[in-house]
Amino acid sequence: VSAAATPEERAFEAGLRPRTLSEFVGQRKVREQLSIMLEGAQGRGRPPDHVLLSGPPGLGKTSLAMIIAEELGVPLRMTSGPAIERAGDLVAILTALTPGEVLFLDEIHRIARPAEELLYAAMEDFRVDVVLGKGPGATAIPLDLAPFTLVGATTRSGLLTGPLRDRFGFTAHMDFYGADELALVLARSARLLGVRLTDDGAAEVAGRSRGTPRIANRLLRRVRDYAEVRADGVVSREVAQAALRIYDVDGLGLDRLDRAVLDALVRRFGGGPVGLGTLAVSVGEEAETVEDVSEPFLLRAGLLVRTARGRVATPAAFTHLGLEPLADGLG
Ligand code: ADP
Repeated sequence: VSAAATPEERAFEAGLRPRTLSEFVGQRKVREQLSIMLEGAQGRGRPPDHVLLSGPPGLGKTSLAMIIAEELGVPLRMTSGPAIERAGDLVAILTALTPGEVLFLDEIHRIARPAEELLYAAMEDFRVDVVLGKGPGATAIPLDLAPFTLVGATTRSGLLTGPLRDRFGFTAHMDFYGADELALVLARSARLLGVRLTDDGAAEVAGRSRGTPRIANRLLRRVRDYAEVRADGVVSREVAQAALRIYDVDGLGLDRLDRAVLDALVRRFGGGPVGLGTLAVSVGEEAETVEDVSEPFLLRAGLLVRTARGRVATPAAFTHLGLEPLADGLG
C-alpha cells in the first residue's frame, strides 16, 4: 500500500473531501494564509495569485485546490504533469479556460519542458504564443487567455525549475498531520460514513496513519468492515487493534515501501551509512520515489537520518524491526 490513491479509492474519497477551508482539518498556517489571500483577491475582483502546494501524497493538496475553486465560486479544471506531453496539450487546456477559473496541475514537476516554457507567459501575462510551421518560416501567433489561477501540486518543490517556481505568488508546504489532527479527520469521516467510532478507537487508528489523512480514511474502512463482521459494529480501541493486526499495519503505520527501505537499510546495509541510489536499487524503486514518498515519513518518525555519508538507521529503527541496536555509532 502506498499513499497514492487507486481509482476506486478516489471515488470513495470524493465523499469524504472537505469542501470548505473551515472543514479542512489542520495545516492551520496554510489555511489562514490562503483564506486571507482568497478574500483579498475577491475584494479586488481579480483571480488570486498562482498557488504552489508541495508535500508528500495524501496530505490534502487536491482537496485544497478544490476548496480554492469552491471558495471563489469558480469552476475547477484538473490535469496533471504526466498528462501534458506536448505544448499543444497545454494550449488546448489553457484556451478553454473561462475567466477566473482554477486550473489544478498535479505533479507539476513532471510536465514536458516545451509545455513548461509556454506556462511562463500564460501564468505571467495570460498569453500563449502558438507557433505555426517549422524552421525559418515559422510564425508565433499570440493568443490572449482568460485570467485564471493555477494551483500546482508537487511532492517536492525542489524538483521545480527556478523560472516556474518564481511564477507562483503563494507557496505552501504541507507537512504530516499530528495524531490529534488525524483523529479529527477520522471523527469527521466516521460521521459522514455512519461509522460508530469511539475516541480511543480514533486515537488508535490515527496513531497508525503515517501522518496522512488519506491513510487514516483507508484504515477506517478496514476497521469498519472488521467491526461489522467480527464485533458489534463499534470501532473501539480493541476492535481497531485487532483489525489492524489482521491487515499487517504496524504500530507506526509504516507502509510497504517504508518497511522495505528500513529493512534494507538495517538488515542489508547494517544500518548504513548507505547512499540514496544504492538504497533505492535494493528496494527496486526510483531514487526520487524513495526520497519524496518514503523518506520524509521515516525522517519524521525518527527512524532514519541523513548524513553527509548517506542514510543511517537510528536505534529506534532496529528496535522497530525487533532487532538489538548496534553498540557503536548511531545505529
Ligand atoms: P493529495 O492531493 O495531497 O494527494 P488529497 O487532497 O487527495 O491529497 O487528500 C486525500 C484524502 O484525504 C481526501 O479525499 C480527504 O478525504 C482526506 N484529507 C486530506 N486532507 C484533509 C484535511 N486537511 N482534512 C480532512 N480530510 C483531508
